[in-house]
Amino acid sequence: MNVGLSKSKILKGLQCPKLLYYSKYPPVDFEIPPDPSREQRLKEGTEVGILAQQLFPGGVEVPYEGLSVSEQIARTRELMAAGQGVIYEASFEFSGVFVKVDILVRNGLGWDIYEVKSGTKVKDENLWDVAVQHYVLGQAGLSINQAYLTHIDNSYVRRGDIDVHRLFHSEKVTAESLVRQAQVPQIISSLKMVLRGSEPDTDIGPHCSSPYECDYKPYCWQHIPESSVFNLAGRGINKFDCYYQGLISYDQLPLEQLNDKQRQQVLATLNQQDSVNREAVNSFLEELWYPLCHLDFETFQSAVPLFDDIRPYQQVPFQYSIHLQHSKNAEVGHCDYLAYPGYDPRRELAEKLIADIPENACILTYNKSFEIGVMKNLAEFFSDLATDINIRISNIRDLMDPFRKRDIYRWQLEGSYSIKKVLPAMVPELTYTGLDIADGGAAMQAYHDMTATTDERQLSEIRQNLLNYCEMDTWAMVKILDKLKTLVETLS
Ligand code: SF4
Repeated sequence: MNVGLSKSKILKGLQCPKLLYYSKYPPVDFEIPPDPSREQRLKEGTEVGILAQQLFPGGVEVPYEGLSVSEQIARTRELMAAGQGVIYEASFEFSGVFVKVDILVRNGLGWDIYEVKSGTKVKDENLWDVAVQHYVLGQAGLSINQAYLTHIDNSYVRRGDIDVHRLFHSEKVTAESLVRQAQVPQIISSLKMVLRGSEPDTDIGPHCSSPYECDYKPYCWQHIPESSVFNLAGRGINKFDCYYQGLISYDQLPLEQLNDKQRQQVLATLNQQDSVNREAVNSFLEELWYPLCHLDFETFQSAVPLFDDIRPYQQVPFQYSIHLQHSKNAEVGHCDYLAYPGYDPRRELAEKLIADIPENACILTYNKSFEIGVMKNLAEFFSDLATDINIRISNIRDLMDPFRKRDIYRWQLEGSYSIKKVLPAMVPELTYTGLDIADGGAAMQAYHDMTATTDERQLSEIRQNLLNYCEMDTWAMVKILDKLKTLVETLS
């Protein structure tokens, strides 16, 4: 059997032997569901890698496309022999392990390795990534002087063209890499055994989500019932300890070992029993006033700031939806904003937001820390608008509060208070099903798609999907608030 390992396969194997096995022999009855956010992350990772090459200009790339593995290795050797000082995607193999080095830089008689990551700090799994390369290159006869992890520096603020020397920070990890290298031969040998053997019987565990969310979770977790120990909200009992003891479904759980909220969650689901603290919900409602405005933002973020005065991964608002009711019995009106791609939308958005929300309006959001964070950033950035924005911030209330505090609890919530769970539990007739965009991650992806297309029809379709989704978010809040009011009236 031809046993070939790559750096990425070794990292999979370090997370879980079964994951490595599936990467070569995928289960026949399962297909990894499409995940636009993962695709966006991969695309962004590639873009970041290409940008980082500018840290060492004048290099030559050894392409993956169009060359076999042995041709990539031969091409790398040719470049080294020809005196090339910087090689991108340099390729090496030792003992059946193939690696590509993001940037290989000649340093005296030896070489330095630069591994580029789109994250903002060095993580343990990144060190293994470097250690495997370091080992293979050493065994392939290269003298390695230093190993670096090059990651995004999120204190960088874009001004004009991207300054790669400030966007990236290279951290020397030679010592950490050398420490791990001692274990690399043993790891390689055991992972080869995994690929030579039959499917490992690895059980599910914390490794299914760490360091990465595993693509095979829907497959390996099929035996976990819908309401299980893993749905318990909050910390407390060790969920995997319970699972390994066979305490999985709600009726098997040791109630006395759960905290109060978890016990309430389990009992409510088992008995299909709702609860409401009428006084507390009523106090929440009495804090609201008219005009009453329901507000929701959509934001994008990117490793490489798209516009001036933006940091890496800064949340930048590009859309909002508002449902506004001027008085108790008035019609609920709607207005919104959605940026066109290609320019910084913040000024336009902030000015329209101030115009759309009356100064004296009560602003209801769902999870107010997010909306407040977005508005504070706008107020800090546009000092001439700060007073108007800060007045509106002081008028924000949080529709999530009664659900977070469990002043109202529906058994279907399973301990969650996210709007995506609360809406079907409170207003089952209203649903996100059928919308092309159904969560904030997909909305961000849609914004990036808008920036990448010049097709007018596609652009208009994406815009309409975004408008529908964001409007649904605030309409859901209107309907949830209506239900709370009706409930309090019914119980009085
Ligand atoms: S879901 Fe868990 S057990 Fe299954 S392959 Fe992934 S990490 Fe391994």
